[in-house]
Amino acid sequence: MSDLKGKVALVTGGSRGIGKAICLELAARGASVFVNYHRNADAAAAVVAEITAGGGEATALQADVQSADQAPALFKDVTSAKGKLDILVNNAGITRDNVIMLLRPSDFDDVISTNLRSTWLCCKEASRLMMRKRSGCIINISSVVGIAGNGGQTNYAASKAGIIGLTKSLAKELAVRGVRVNAVAPGFVETDMTADLADEIRDKAVEAIPLRRLGYPADIAKAVAFLASEDASYITGQTLVVDGGMVM
Ligand code: NDP
Repeated sequence: MSDLKGKVALVTGGSRGIGKAICLELAARGASVFVNYHRNADAAAAVVAEITAGGGEATALQADVQSADQAPALFKDVTSAKGKLDILVNNAGITRDNVIMLLRPSDFDDVISTNLRSTWLCCKEASRLMMRKRSGCIINISSVVGIAGNGGQTNYAASKAGIIGLTKSLAKELAVRGVRVNAVAPGFVETDMTADLADEIRDKAVEAIPLRRLGYPADIAKAVAFLASEDASYITGQTLVVDGGMVM
């Protein structure tokens, strides 16, 4: 499929896990992909190598997306190279899980800043570029935890619920300029983020999923690619839940 041919995409946190799968999927559909990463330059380089080996186009860009200086610089790098941005995927995220009595204010701030502030900063930069050309789409990665909540994740749930509110508000602001803004809310997906969970917790999670398996990063990437495509041209302000039926 080459439905994204000629499109320029930026994926934050594209070096690993879900972000990596999104980069591979968008590139496979013809987009030129900018793979943002924070610390893991080797992993980002490997994603770029995989895409270019398959005949696609990709570039790695380092930036801490929660930084009010580094996030705008990232967009300057993209426009200097390509002159435009068509698709932004705000995927970078972290967890700092614990029950509220054991969470420190810094655990709350780090998660809100990395997950929510970064999304807002990048949406602001992309809005400027996309409003000007009266087209484009933004996809923000939320979580089912932002919809249903989860004990031990008060900080993370607040960040992911915040992303849903941000998405709806920005969709209302930008629709008149031809720019769509949606969110994807993954359930439990096999990545580094969930790799350390005890087998017992993992088994319980599978039991709670009607489709009886954890998600693969590619499951999320395909939903993102759909929202980025012309097939979704009448969809904005929505949160697409991709969780095997866990939350319904
Ligand atoms: P991983 O931990 O596997 O990867 C996180 C990615 O985010 C890495 O590419 C990392 O870069 C990047 N990143 C982290 N902090 C920053 C930063 N400050 N600036 C730029 N990049 C940063 O996570 P997942 O793939 O599991 O998760 C991706 C997204 O999906 C997150 O938003 C997460 O909350 C969400 N999600 C995940 C679920 C799951 O079950 N895995 C479920 C629901 C939502 P680097 O490699 O350089 O460290």
